[in-house]
Amino acid sequence: MKTIKVSVVTPDGPVYESDVEMVSTKASTGELGILPGHIPMVAPLQIGAVRLKNGSKNEFIAVSGGFLEVRPEQVTILAQSAEQSSEIDLERALKAKERAEQRLHERKQENIDFKRAELALQRAINRISVAERRI
Ligand code: ATP
Repeated sequence: MKTIKVSVVTPDGPVYESDVEMVSTKASTGELGILPGHIPMVAPLQIGAVRLKNGSKNEFIAVSGGFLEVRPEQVTILAQSAEQSSEIDLERALKAKERAEQRLHERKQENIDFKRAELALQRAINRISVAERRI
């Protein structure tokens, strides 16, 4: 089976690098499935999961938005933050979810805080969902 090199990089440094058979994720334009030899492209990413397939094995990474660059033999994901499922602190994500929900319920803040709380909630829900995919 052919493989494609994947690198996930954040402002704090590299998070993941490996050769995989397929990269799947959700771009702003919809679901993307990238196989070796894919046409070059750049796409913005939403808060979501990246699935890395190798044989019958799937690994998941939680990303908090960023960009995906595809070249025929390499996929680079530049993310604001990214965690492999095994690195996610589930307790922390559950607490972040609770905090964000609390803020959204209070609704006392200006719009900008409301948006921030919504994004924090999305990040927390994404981390919880990726952490639950641990093998
Ligand atoms: P929190 O409120 O818990 O800090 P957050 O969504 O505000 O969550 P970010 O600003 O997205 O956090 O990330 C800050 C740093 O902390 C990043 O390096 C990110 O990878 C890491 N991080 C955040 N939440 C978790 C988690 N649940 N498990 C592991 N690492 C995390």
